[in-house]
Amino acid sequence: REIDVDEWVYSTCGYCSVGCGLYIGVKDGEAVAVEGNSDSLVNKGKLCIKGLYEWKALHAPERATSPMIRKNGKLEPVSWDEALSHFVDKMQRIIDEKGSEGVGIYHTGQLLLEEYYALGKLAKGVIGTPNIDANTRLCMASAVQGYIRSFGTDGPPGCYEDLDQAEVLFIIGANPAEMHPQLWQRILHYRAEKKTKIIVADPRLTLPAQVADLHLALRPGTNIALLNAMIHVLISEGLIDLEMIEAHTHGFAELKALVEDYPPERGEELTGVPAKRIIEAALLFGRSATATTLYCQGVNQSMSATDTATLINTLHLISGKIGKPGCTPFSLTGQSTSMSNREVGGTTSLPGFRNPMNPEHRREVAEIWKLDQEKIPCQTNDIMKMMALIGEGKLDFLWVIGTNPVVSLPDQRKIREYLDRVFLVVQDVYYPMETAQYADIFLPAAQWGEKTGTYTNLERRVNIGYQAVKPPGNGKSDLIIFQEVGKRLGEGEAFNWNEPEEVFNEWKLLSKGRPNDMSGMTYLRLEKEHGIRWPCPATNHPGTARLYTQGIFNTFECIAEAYGDFNHFEGRAKLWAVPYQQPPEIPDSDYPFWLNTGSIIEHYHTRTKTKRIPELNITAPEGYVEVNPQDAKGLQIQDGEKVRVVSRRGWIEVGVRVRNTVSPGQVFVPFHFGDLDPLEAHLKQAANHLTLNWVDPFSKQPMMKVSACRIEKI
Ligand code: SF4
Repeated sequence: REIDVDEWVYSTCGYCSVGCGLYIGVKDGEAVAVEGNSDSLVNKGKLCIKGLYEWKALHAPERATSPMIRKNGKLEPVSWDEALSHFVDKMQRIIDEKGSEGVGIYHTGQLLLEEYYALGKLAKGVIGTPNIDANTRLCMASAVQGYIRSFGTDGPPGCYEDLDQAEVLFIIGANPAEMHPQLWQRILHYRAEKKTKIIVADPRLTLPAQVADLHLALRPGTNIALLNAMIHVLISEGLIDLEMIEAHTHGFAELKALVEDYPPERGEELTGVPAKRIIEAALLFGRSATATTLYCQGVNQSMSATDTATLINTLHLISGKIGKPGCTPFSLTGQSTSMSNREVGGTTSLPGFRNPMNPEHRREVAEIWKLDQEKIPCQTNDIMKMMALIGEGKLDFLWVIGTNPVVSLPDQRKIREYLDRVFLVVQDVYYPMETAQYADIFLPAAQWGEKTGTYTNLERRVNIGYQAVKPPGNGKSDLIIFQEVGKRLGEGEAFNWNEPEEVFNEWKLLSKGRPNDMSGMTYLRLEKEHGIRWPCPATNHPGTARLYTQGIFNTFECIAEAYGDFNHFEGRAKLWAVPYQQPPEIPDSDYPFWLNTGSIIEHYHTRTKTKRIPELNITAPEGYVEVNPQDAKGLQIQDGEKVRVVSRRGWIEVGVRVRNTVSPGQVFVPFHFGDLDPLEAHLKQAANHLTLNWVDPFSKQPMMKVSACRIEKI
């Protein structure tokens, strides 16, 4: 606190879902520093490099300051009144012509809980469109479906203390060292103290894999084969909790019959991991008193993603490693408020994990919203379905909020064709940004630090962040923009909040009695107690560290059918038996390499913030491809040389990094980079030119981790 500031404003980091507590230093009305909150129960004052420099994202010269409308091919500054009138007139004309299905909304995992709530109310209760989705579809949709299919409802069962208390950490398809840095620091801290054993299952030699006790370098797309083989060993070695299985689950007989076909030798054949290593991993996990599994996009964006998430839950259920200290399956979400979005009904569900197909749930929501129940759609479409609807001429108006599909969605050639065709409204904090090239209307929004609201982190902890500074120019918070649109659509009363906490209070009414009950929380409590984990049903309730501590699952009526037909009887969890399936595209003679895409520590999502922060951008200013030294030799390419990476969908030109972090026959391309100039070939770097348009059948999450490519010398 030696920095000269006028005040330190209590807040929460706006990047990843770890949810570190921090203060924003303000001097003369400008953010000038960030400091970790030493009382935070999450990060105890420490921050990673992204959090530390987050205040610099507020000052970028490209901050959007005025609404704009495309006139004669160019976006021209206009007043808010003109922009919103044009917006609402155009949307209304399309609704008159095609019904509310003609309108789509694609948003983000980076709004605030209050904003998701308001947007869900606007989209489902006023516009009445089934076309609402968020980039959280790319992030943790498979984990959500996995939780629902196993336990009957969404929600991570464990908490951060489980990482501290686990004897064994099984990290599958996750790289917390780069994606969740403070969580990784916490893991290393307790490992030094408690000698935690770490098993990493990942095709790449990531940082966690380098320090692990056991690295299972499985072939891309083979998570199911590995887990089935591990479960085979657990059962055959008697390392299962029969009491837990009999009293609290169903489906064990089918599971046991299926995994009989997955002895470790078959696991080796399918995954490429030696059978003895599979056995070693299963024995380490099974013989430990406590074990926690962490997983992220290597599961959620991979082959059979939802099935893999359910199998991870199964691993914990059959070994009795759930609902007690040090024992949990733990999905690591990506963005700071992805969890908030799913809690309040920003996409698939209705607020409080309610089922949109259930008329009683629609009635309960409509009553609190004071809106017409008949307008609320019974189901929603995911973003790839919405893109297909644009292609079919059924969706003519798309509102993109706080996300950048021109970098982040797979199969870019088609995505860009669709965006060219639709009437596009882009609401963002920066201009220019890639997706805005296609915009007919642009709305400038406030960002982190410029608005007040709540963030739920990945252990269900709801944190508060207060507005520290004003947005530049005429930027408005997303909440105010949603309120203005609601009023212009004739529902002023339903959007008549003066402060974000009034929105939070309205949401609390809908959360009451639900699994994610926040009715005992207030902004003041969230600040004083440094966040509270849901459920928190009363103002004197401390919050809940762990779910399912009594082995009772699906205790809430109607949750089981929330998003499907999972009527789990007697409060039991379901053990799903899932066979391995080969990915739809595998390397062949034309495209001989496995292509893996992912994140690196310097950047966040599509770099809209991080590329503007020199301290972050300096080490990773451009896209690249990691190639194994053996393959580089065979291709006669050198470190630093520019090459063309080509798939059946498209190509990019990037520099080579010759590294043993990828196995022979595999390459890795970070997904953060957009095309620096779409017309200049050597600046075409968006990894999603290459990725496959193929979605998981349950979660509809695109499979970005597994496809095939070749490397061409230029
Ligand atoms: Fe922010 Fe995540 Fe870094 Fe914490 S670990 S400072 S939440 S980016």
